[in-house]
Amino acid sequence: MDKIWSEERIRNVMKELDKKTGLKGAMLPIIFTKSRGTIGYFSVVGGKSNRFAFSDYYYQDPDWPEEMAIEMIKHEYAHYMDYETYGKAGHGPTWKICCGKLGIAPLRLYSENGANYYINKHKLNEAKSEKLDRYDSGVCIEHPKYGKGVIKEIVGAGAKRLAKVEFAEAVEKLLSLSWIDEKCKTC
Ligand SMILES: [Zn+2]
Repeated sequence: MDKIWSEERIRNVMKELDKKTGLKGAMLPIIFTKSRGTIGYFSVVGGKSNRFAFSDYYYQDPDWPEEMAIEMIKHEYAHYMDYETYGKAGHGPTWKICCGKLGIAPLRLYSENGANYYINKHKLNEAKSEKLDRYDSGVCIEHPKYGKGVIKEIVGAGAKRLAKVEFAEAVEKLLSLSWIDEKCKTC
């Protein structure tokens, strides 16, 4: 499956920022992590800008909004710009100047609240998904309209899984598992 946010796509965002700043952030290595707690970071090694990292946990999630993805790329780029221009790290006044020049809200909390929102959403989805693990083929459910049916197949993954259910007279329906969990009884 193609990556939603490939290295190239992130680089293209940075190229646009380089045009504004005259820097070469888009030339730095980019790595992908699996971190849930850190969406992205910029690192300095031996007094030199080293690389950017972005977490696939967010960047390959179809629900991760594009604006948030771009905002976080700009946030990390502002750290790079701050380091290259002022030799500073952290979310201090010079970093805020860089944010201003890149057109993002220079508030650390803004991004962190945004990030926390999605971290919590992920946790919620995982909890929802775990709840659905008890449904498998062979499980009998009672639908409010079609009556008793048997799950024939589970389709998809995570909280958005679907179930093929066979009801009386060979009526087959494809239903969302979370809907089943909410509206149907097991029997
Ligand atoms: Zn930061």
